[in-house]
Amino acid sequence: MGIKNIFLFLVIPLFILVSCNQKKNTGETQTSPRVVQIPSFNADSAYFFVELQVKFGPRVPNTKSHHEAADYFAGQLKKSGAAVVTQDFDAITWDNRKVQLRNIIASYNPDAKKRILLAAHWDTRPYADKDTEKKDAPFDGANDGASGVGILLEISRLLGQGKLPSVGVDLILFDGEDWGEKEADKSKIPLPEGYEGWWCLGSQYWAKHKHKKNYSAYYGILLDMVGSKRAQFFREGVSLEFAPTVVEKVWSTASRLGYTDYFVKTNVGGIIDDHVYVNEMGKIPMIDIVHYQNGIGFFGDYHHSRKDNLSIISKETLGAVGTTLMNVVYFEE
Ligand SMILES: [Zn+2]
Repeated sequence: MGIKNIFLFLVIPLFILVSCNQKKNTGETQTSPRVVQIPSFNADSAYFFVELQVKFGPRVPNTKSHHEAADYFAGQLKKSGAAVVTQDFDAITWDNRKVQLRNIIASYNPDAKKRILLAAHWDTRPYADKDTEKKDAPFDGANDGASGVGILLEISRLLGQGKLPSVGVDLILFDGEDWGEKEADKSKIPLPEGYEGWWCLGSQYWAKHKHKKNYSAYYGILLDMVGSKRAQFFREGVSLEFAPTVVEKVWSTASRLGYTDYFVKTNVGGIIDDHVYVNEMGKIPMIDIVHYQNGIGFFGDYHHSRKDNLSIISKETLGAVGTTLMNVVYFEE
């Protein structure tokens, strides 16, 4: 860990003690050290939650796996002590299918005014259209969907067990993110009223129908494809446009924790993901932590193909992202 001046070292199960506000013996005014107890993120547990989602089968809307996974998420979040709200709604996809979708929102410290929003999409794309064969087959979505949700479920488990942070925390599992147009086939129908794109249907719905009247958050962090081996996260364009200070906060926290191999301080272009609609329609500054391959671009070769299965998932990557998020949230005052 890249932290100097640890004043106190105690071994407490489940907690690590971190001191901030570094003191230097230079005769300057000294600030008292701030000690924050942060439950340690368990990467094995996060991996377990990813594996469990894959076992449900592809979480494609209108399938049994999708229904079962949704029920499991709501139950697990409640079991972890969260106040849970579900939003059921119907939507039309680009290929003119009517799908039943469900956003799941879990809140901690519901009365706290200052709130941090953490989100990921939980649905799986219905077809592996970037695969070299079987382009119409569904796929596991171990990284595209399950990795971000796995990290959020582990954070929820920890929030349910230990001391809560000073701020309120809302976890949102968005549905219907990944049923967007194929590169080779565009929509022949007009966008339904209230929608600005075929991707991210759940976040667009939520941004216009928030789970709580006048809900807002201090900022939001979206996770998408955050679990593959040796993944790297570059500073994404839409995040930099809407929430540059949040980008700075997250990347410098990761750097303090020694995760510079994962969180690369290089700016890249923007992408369409749930954060676009939370920013534009929902008016909450939100960043996206999303896999970017240096020299290639966003995501990896597993993207929207059957390669997106458990074999590409790394506990180390899940741990780096989860630990960074826990630090960001717990250092918030
Ligand atoms: Zn996707």
